[in-house]
Amino acid sequence: MSIKVIAISKIYKTQKALNEVSFSADKGQIIGFLGPNGAGKSTMMKILTGFIKPNSGQVFVDEIDVLKNPIEAQKIIGYLPEHNPLYTDMYVREYLQFQASIFKVDKYEIETCIEKVGLTEEAHKKINELSKGYQQRVGLAAAILHNPKVLILDEPTTGLDPNQIVEIRELIKELGKEKTVLFSTHIMQEVEAICDRVIIIKKGEILVDKKLTELKQNNQQIIEVTFNSKIEEQLIQQLKNIVSCKNNKDNSWSITFESKEDMRPKIFDFAQENGLKILALKANNKSLETLFREVTS
Ligand code: ADP
Ligand code: MG
Repeated sequence: MSIKVIAISKIYKTQKALNEVSFSADKGQIIGFLGPNGAGKSTMMKILTGFIKPNSGQVFVDEIDVLKNPIEAQKIIGYLPEHNPLYTDMYVREYLQFQASIFKVDKYEIETCIEKVGLTEEAHKKINELSKGYQQRVGLAAAILHNPKVLILDEPTTGLDPNQIVEIRELIKELGKEKTVLFSTHIMQEVEAICDRVIIIKKGEILVDKKLTELKQNNQQIIEVTFNSKIEEQLIQQLKNIVSCKNNKDNSWSITFESKEDMRPKIFDFAQENGLKILALKANNKSLETLFREVTS
């Protein structure tokens, strides 16, 4: 097990930020740590990386007890904090050399990292001359200098433009091939694009912890159907496997079913039995976005 978090609670004065949070991650997984602002994501990451202490609970990274041996743990963890604090007056290469000296990393590793994050062309520039996306690459390069087994990235794509977001996502995907990556975001599509697993947290509690494939295999289907004439809701409610239905306008309905079976043919049968004609029919699987909104709202 690469990351193991056991019943972590954190209280800031009177604010409970984390309430008995537990989860674990296998080697080589990319895990999306998803939740609205104030959910406790950054707090969890600061605890995981040994920068703050919880009030109770335990954290292990690659079997190292982070609370007892934070320095040992930090040797195998790469951390990109929220807002990526960089010394922006420094040159890229100079900054990375400085970071490398802290971790006693060989000089040639710096060049490898510069190349890995796509900074070769920019390495001679001052950090404050770089775009936000490239500054984020500097932060990522600094995080992977000591070749950590585990990467903790706190909202690595926040504040980037759409092209930069795609580039950083690709980079995270690439890094995830050889490392365990836990990254936080409040964007569901981000998780869909790069993760193997999703942990959804809200108000300091984990609401969902699932493989992305499992999450996608929810059996709810929403069918949008328009009949040629008026129909009573009561009649629709008699359909097998129905969860809910909503009249959109006129004779258009959204009907949600919980079923593995495609419900469209059943709707055709239903229409025929009731002397109705179908003017339009569309089936949607419940999107992860909808799921996220339902879970966190
Ligand atoms: P997220 O990263 O998911 O947005 P945080 O972990 O930053 O959430 O914050 C979780 C909760 O703890 C929030 O309600 C926040 O206001 C509170 N909090 C975070 N840091 C501190 C702090 N240093 N002192 C007091 N409250 C804090
Ligand atoms: Mg945060």
